[in-house]
Amino acid sequence: QARLMWPLLGLMRVGLDLQTSGALFARIFEYLDLKPAITDAPDAGELPDTGRPGRVAFDHVSFVYPDGDHEHPTLDDVSFEVEPGRFAAFVGASGAGKTTISYLVPRLYEASAGRVLVDGVDVREVRHESLIDRLGIVSQETYLFHATIAENLRYARPGASDDELHDAARRANIHDRIMSFPEGYATVVGERGYRLSGGEKQRIAIARVLLKDPAVLILDEATSALDTVSERVVQQALDTAAHGRTTIAIAHRLSTIVQADVIFVVDAGRIVESGTHAELIARDGAYARLYLQQLTDVTGEVV
Ligand code: ADP
Ligand code: MG
Repeated sequence: QARLMWPLLGLMRVGLDLQTSGALFARIFEYLDLKPAITDAPDAGELPDTGRPGRVAFDHVSFVYPDGDHEHPTLDDVSFEVEPGRFAAFVGASGAGKTTISYLVPRLYEASAGRVLVDGVDVREVRHESLIDRLGIVSQETYLFHATIAENLRYARPGASDDELHDAARRANIHDRIMSFPEGYATVVGERGYRLSGGEKQRIAIARVLLKDPAVLILDEATSALDTVSERVVQQALDTAAHGRTTIAIAHRLSTIVQADVIFVVDAGRIVESGTHAELIARDGAYARLYLQQLTDVTGEVV
């Protein structure tokens, strides 16, 4: 319990039961049902807050889940680098290992071999809290505490003023919706509270990211569970959130992928191709096949 990344006081104020919060870290990071075992090395330093977008790199990373098969590692010698401020899309079939890559950046799991680097620093060598402070994550599942919307937003930045909350919510396309509730930002949401739609929850998650203003943003198929209309609204908010920071997007949405600065194609735990959309189409390999397949799925046409 000594490794919580948000101030305990703030968590207690939102009424969280610390006795039952073994998976708290995971929940806060929108990843449910994970129980990371993370200990800081005695000599762990701080990951310096440079105030600029972060650089993320994997250096020959292999990874096997604790109960996994060592003959077939989930990640097999994965190396890549995302330059500060760039938008990187990871694409590939279901089960290829994309989400696992995203788990290793916040150190939900540790590499079995190789190194995960943020700003050139091995994530195992820094205090976990200082790593987490620099990351923001939006995934398919947004976890909201049973607390007011204001409290749910504020634990991304406990000192945020009302104006800052409203500004973040505006940029996340959710302010007007919140104001339409009788109790506005004081509306209680979460398990037994007011029921928000999936798209509304996602936009609250994005408002949290905007408040936190992290150096690196990780998006794990953040819009894949939404209908087309709310997907569009959430996508606009995500575009706003990605602006000015390094983004690692596990993407299923074609327009996101096409516009990425760099695309990494993941297949069976390996990165098999990388480049821009135009480069990879010209290459006519795994990406071109995947793209054509998705295009066909979207339009419903049969090729
Ligand atoms: P993707 O996000 O590309 O669909 P994942 O990273 O979720 O792929 O999964 C990669 C592989 O790791 C899959 O074979 C999956 O079954 C396995 N896997 C995912 N999560 C776990 C886990 N917690 N424990 C064991 N195996 C897992
Ligand atoms: Mg996944």
